[in-house]
Amino acid sequence: MSIHPIDVILHKRDGLALSDAEIEGYIRALVERESASHPPANAPTESQTAALLMAIFLRGLNPQELAALTQAMRFSGETLDTSSLSSFTVDKHSTGGVGDKTSILIAPIVAAAGLIDPMISGRSLGHTGGTLDKLETIPGFRTQLPLPEFLAILQKCGFAMAGQTLTLVPADRILYALRDHTGTVESPYLITASIMSKKLAAGLNALVLDVKTGSGAFISKYADAQLLARLMVETGELAGTRTVALLTSMDQPLGRFAGNWVEVQECLELFQHFSPDCALTLPPEKLRLSADLLTLTHALTGHMLCLGGKATTPEAGAALSAQHLADGSAYKRFLQMVELQTNRVPHSSQSDRDGWDSSHKSLSESRYQAAFSNPAAFHKPAATRTLTADRAGFLSAMDCKQIGWAVQRLGAGRTHPGAPVSAHAGIEMHAKLGDRIALGQPLATLFSEDPALLDEPEAMLRETLQISAAPPTPIPLIREIITRDHLQ
Ligand code: URA
Repeated sequence: MSIHPIDVILHKRDGLALSDAEIEGYIRALVERESASHPPANAPTESQTAALLMAIFLRGLNPQELAALTQAMRFSGETLDTSSLSSFTVDKHSTGGVGDKTSILIAPIVAAAGLIDPMISGRSLGHTGGTLDKLETIPGFRTQLPLPEFLAILQKCGFAMAGQTLTLVPADRILYALRDHTGTVESPYLITASIMSKKLAAGLNALVLDVKTGSGAFISKYADAQLLARLMVETGELAGTRTVALLTSMDQPLGRFAGNWVEVQECLELFQHFSPDCALTLPPEKLRLSADLLTLTHALTGHMLCLGGKATTPEAGAALSAQHLADGSAYKRFLQMVELQTNRVPHSSQSDRDGWDSSHKSLSESRYQAAFSNPAAFHKPAATRTLTADRAGFLSAMDCKQIGWAVQRLGAGRTHPGAPVSAHAGIEMHAKLGDRIALGQPLATLFSEDPALLDEPEAMLRETLQISAAPPTPIPLIREIITRDHLQ
């Protein structure tokens, strides 16, 4: 149906419900305007779409409107046809955090367990890190894969990690860029349609959502995060994808590091520590600082394995997840995916399919060998500074968003769209909330590729890391789990 953009804007502005036809027609005309050499006469202008986004931000969407918007965006471009894949497809998506590197651990564990994870990830956004920026610090790693190659890698190793292509969900690319400029990013309805359209376009059978709450989350208030989780579960289930959301605390960086390479390093060190055939053993203190990362990883994977029929309960799934880390099978999958996604001469179909030994041989010849054989030594920031405690007590509070911004200002984030990010910028946290702190004890180490970038982040950290005489009330890492049974 042909729509008039002004009618759609007026209806939403005045609080009326939009029909499916209005929403579908608007999204179709929006995408045609960008792609067609002669845009349709009724194509919405950029200012009209900005007005509609603000009307949605202020008025919200009812469940029918949200489902229609998500589906219209999902089918606004190519979709991934996973019907040829031999197994159940499942993915995890986080609403964005600081030091959140669970994707790098989860996808290979899920593949090792026999499910398929077509992981389409994003770049750093605001104060939060992006999986693509982290993975691109691996020498030669490609995150822009044509859909046929993405599917071929999925078939071979059970998971692939790449960015959204130009042709996948173009409506989200257009709307997201406008939201960024018009103060409409934080709408739970627009976030739901944005995330769920991309996840549904990836042809998933099931999805586990990590909805962050707390000072480092985009949506910091608990009730708002709860609404977002419910909207996403409802939208996924209505579209026929089994969907579960975990509401999790983002009140301090997850794990030991936040940045780009340092987050890959943390994952590699954990993979190698647990793999029986690797020489690396992490000291107990470093393992303790990564404990929350491991707990969340296994909890999210546990739900994925349960939805995919590999475990009878999420708890049994979490135990299975830990087993795949401990027997080295997840690390082998990770190395296989890196082999397939780096710029190398492709190896023979025989070694691709089942010759782990031959993959390993080519790994030793590859450009990233140094990075993987000694992840800590590969970390080469030009400048390092350690912040120490100016009093004794307990680490009692921090504004995690401020820490995320400090990481970005060290160089890990972009100063403008399309700008390069620094591979080695980041922060290593030496303490967790609730830890007893001695006078002069290191609290955090800052890394940058430019010494001039250290001062402001150091001041930001000094201001936000609070040391008090009494320990704080602990905040649970996993606060609530929302499934279809919790929707009334
Ligand atoms: N991530 C997305 O992909 N979209 C949003 O709107 C927010 C986070």
